[in-house]
Amino acid sequence: MSSRSTATDPRGGATEVQHAASWYAASANASPQRPALEGEVSCDVCVVGAGFTGISAALHLAEQGLKVVVLEAARVGYGASGRNGGQIVNSYSRDMDVIEDKYGADTARALGDMAFEGNRIIRERIARYDIQCDLREGNLFAACNERQLKGLREHQALWQRYGHDGLELLEGDACRREVGSDRYTGALVDHSGGHLHPLNLVLGQAAALESLGGVIFEQSPVESLVHGQPVVLKSRNGSVRAERVVMAGNAYMSGVMPELEAKSMPCGTQIITTEPLGEDLARELLPNNMAVEDCNYLLDYFRLTRDNRLIYGGGVNYGGEDPQDIEAVIRPKMEKTFPMLKTVKVDYAWSGTFLMTLNRLPQFGVINDNVYYAQGYSGHGVTCTHLAGRLISEVMTGRDERFDAFAGLPHLPFPGGRMLRVPLSAIGAWYYQTRDKLGI
Ligand SMILES: Cc1cc2nc3c(=O)[nH]c(=O)nc-3n(C[C@H](O)[C@H](O)[C@H](O)COP(=O)(O)OP(=O)(O)OC[C@H]3O[C@@H](n4cnc5c(N)ncnc54)[C@H](O)[C@@H]3O)c2cc1C
Repeated sequence: MSSRSTATDPRGGATEVQHAASWYAASANASPQRPALEGEVSCDVCVVGAGFTGISAALHLAEQGLKVVVLEAARVGYGASGRNGGQIVNSYSRDMDVIEDKYGADTARALGDMAFEGNRIIRERIARYDIQCDLREGNLFAACNERQLKGLREHQALWQRYGHDGLELLEGDACRREVGSDRYTGALVDHSGGHLHPLNLVLGQAAALESLGGVIFEQSPVESLVHGQPVVLKSRNGSVRAERVVMAGNAYMSGVMPELEAKSMPCGTQIITTEPLGEDLARELLPNNMAVEDCNYLLDYFRLTRDNRLIYGGGVNYGGEDPQDIEAVIRPKMEKTFPMLKTVKVDYAWSGTFLMTLNRLPQFGVINDNVYYAQGYSGHGVTCTHLAGRLISEVMTGRDERFDAFAGLPHLPFPGGRMLRVPLSAIGAWYYQTRDKLGI
């Protein structure tokens, strides 16, 4: 099953890119097709990319009265934001102790203070704009061996130091209270996390943006950007002159600003979605309907949908290439966790691309004083993208301290550069995967 769908522009223009053929696209709330950009438009801020980062930033800025234009290459939520696992995971892809060790106590404290804010922003957005996106409470990290369980105990203590004492450790059989699988030796439950329908979240925020006067153009890939005052962004049939710009294309952006691509690597991950399982089987798998990710280096992640399907994702392929047969790759992982699903039908299978950085921390910054960017959430971006949107709006309105806490993080290129980063990362992943398999 292809995870990318296209349609020919009825006006005889370029091919239109539609949403991946996911369960999310099939169950999305009604949302208009926005027109493509034509002619010349001026604005205070032009946002490139209508995923969580771009739409979150645009909405924060529009709430402050700025005139915002969003240019999206395909559809709102086309990228990772509209096709991810939907897991609301607090904090970052790097643990706070690593941040402390590498970047010092002040940086760790600044980032630690913001580690739960993205989650709060999502909930504020859902409540304020009445967004229907199946929000459910609770997520957990599941340990596949004793080493990982020890890691979860340390994780709990670490988060307590950063003021988060809402974590509950389940050891041994207690884990079955949350996950109906024999695979796990323990789990750390975050009662303040959760899960949701990510495409409906981004579509809801896009509608909120438009209600405040923001304008979104779809099928409008930015092909070039000329720095200056104003910045000029060119798409196929039009251009935007903007006082300031937000680059939010993340892993899906290519060729527009090579300097943003040099220190990151696109990575593919795949998801399958079963047929509806029925209430009884769904509760057997996940009795309290929490979202789960395991602690392996190449992790599995899964959760239930509102109609009791199991969404199961896993694996990473460096460089972002899609496997030919996604079900053949992911189904064995699902059956290893839940052998009772052997005869269950898979209705949807798709792939998505996220952006990895070498230190697994997001890259925020500004180029030429008026082109801002935020990207590279390294696999955990649902909450941090929403934080990024707020911090971009802060820095654009004169409050730079919190944005700068991220912008000051040093980022190095992947070893081997663009040619060798994929094979070298695959070798690294193989090493950690082997350790996970051996439980060492
Ligand atoms: C399969 C998958 C599962 C995941 N699961 C989770 C999860 O459960 N929890 C979690 O926290 N994180 C998860 N992530 C990560 C998370 O989804 C991402 O970090 C986050 O969505 C990134 O949002 P974004 O807005 O920065 O980028 P994207 O959502 O990728 O949006 C970028 C947008 O920019 C557009 N664009 C690119 N170039 C241009 C251009 N030149 N002109 C105009 N538009 C352009 C693209 O079309 C796209 O719509 C997952 C990622 C994937 C791929």
